[in-house]
Amino acid sequence: MERTKIDQLKGNIGQTVLVKGWIQEFRGQSKIKFILLRDISGVAQCVVFDQSLFDACSKVTTETVVSIEGLVKTATVKSAEVTENTLEIEVKKLDIINTAEPLPINVVEKDKSIITDLSKRLDYRFLDLHKRDIQAIFKVQSTLVQAYHEFMIKEGAIEALFPSIIGASSEGGTEVFEVKYFEKSALLSQSCQLYKQMIACSMEKVFAVFTVWRAEKHNTVRHLNESRQFDFEMAFADDKDVMDVLARCIQFMIEKVMKENQRELALLNAKLKVPGVKYLTFAEVSGIMKKHGIHLGADDLSGEAEEKLGELYPETIVFVHDWPLSGKPFYIMPKGDELSLGFDAIYRGMEISSGGQRVHLPELLVERLKAKDLNPENFKSYIDSFRYGAPPHAGWGAGVERITMLILGLKNIREAALFPRDRERLTP
Ligand code: ATP
Ligand code: MG
Repeated sequence: MERTKIDQLKGNIGQTVLVKGWIQEFRGQSKIKFILLRDISGVAQCVVFDQSLFDACSKVTTETVVSIEGLVKTATVKSAEVTENTLEIEVKKLDIINTAEPLPINVVEKDKSIITDLSKRLDYRFLDLHKRDIQAIFKVQSTLVQAYHEFMIKEGAIEALFPSIIGASSEGGTEVFEVKYFEKSALLSQSCQLYKQMIACSMEKVFAVFTVWRAEKHNTVRHLNESRQFDFEMAFADDKDVMDVLARCIQFMIEKVMKENQRELALLNAKLKVPGVKYLTFAEVSGIMKKHGIHLGADDLSGEAEEKLGELYPETIVFVHDWPLSGKPFYIMPKGDELSLGFDAIYRGMEISSGGQRVHLPELLVERLKAKDLNPENFKSYIDSFRYGAPPHAGWGAGVERITMLILGLKNIREAALFPRDRERLTP
């Protein structure tokens, strides 16, 4: 018999089906036993009347993997857990596929006051991922990544696969991880910045979902030491052009999640709306913050200011552009002496992306590197790549886990990474 997924039971009323999954819960009375069976598509209530199966039932532990054959019918007893349908399976045959040992963490946390803490859950992430609400997070993340591909391909961008081990730091300043590379020492990539620029200068429009490593010692709820980025770069474009691409891209991704993940959003109690777009200069934001008693530094937004923007412009992607030159990396194009063509995008009170027009002129790059106290010698091959026909170009990078966290209202970015890497955690 072919396996039926739990969300397909509806079409099989009155028929015998074969279902496979995990035992989420087992309850027994003397004449009747109940099993809640879970697969990736849902949870089904299974009832056992047949006394000859009671012995097998008594052996099942929670999360044991079983196969059940039974008759699909309208439920006799309703269970609060089973929201998918009001059907149940009357069990005719029960086979244990693999017995689960006693669980180190609960998979069903009925009493929300004794919820396992995040760190312990992450120690047992493989088991944490048996939970339906945790699965929901990563179903949504999967939709985001798919939507990103779909959007970018429609935009006419090509997908690039970049190296992650590099010979020299791509950004200068930020802390990088060193790795042994045969006789030499190499670094783990902090961004694909320089590579995506080279591809934009040859193939015009490029995107990537790229893993980055940052050796920053911070331990915050919004940073990981390994994270993924949605990257984009485009030739013959300025900051305004790529802000528009980013806005439409995020809107498309959110719309897709709203369409395809209704069940997951409900399970996570996440309210989602396609965001609007607002453009403000850094100077304007400074003024707005002053009015609200928040003092901004000369060239960066504080966490407090980002939060305030989220409050003032709810459900909006706020682009803060004309950013002070001193606050942006060397590869961002200056706009006059003080400003730049760099921007940040803030959504729900947090930075989701940074981007801008790049410096495509070798002499200007040398000047900008020096202005940042970086040695142009160390960036020679990068600078040289712009000597043989480099068009003006612009782009951005947006955090995959950061966006997942914000659209689902998760409190900690670790919740939005399958296997997070932070200062303390390298396993599982
Ligand atoms: P932040 O100011 O929030 O620390 P950043 O300006 O250092 O971020 P960028 O280099 O601009 O980060 O990276 C682009 C995007 O990648 C950020 O807007 C954010 O969404 C995400 N991101 C950056 N650093 C991290 C990190 N350590 N962990 C998770 N996501 C990150
Ligand atoms: Mg940034």
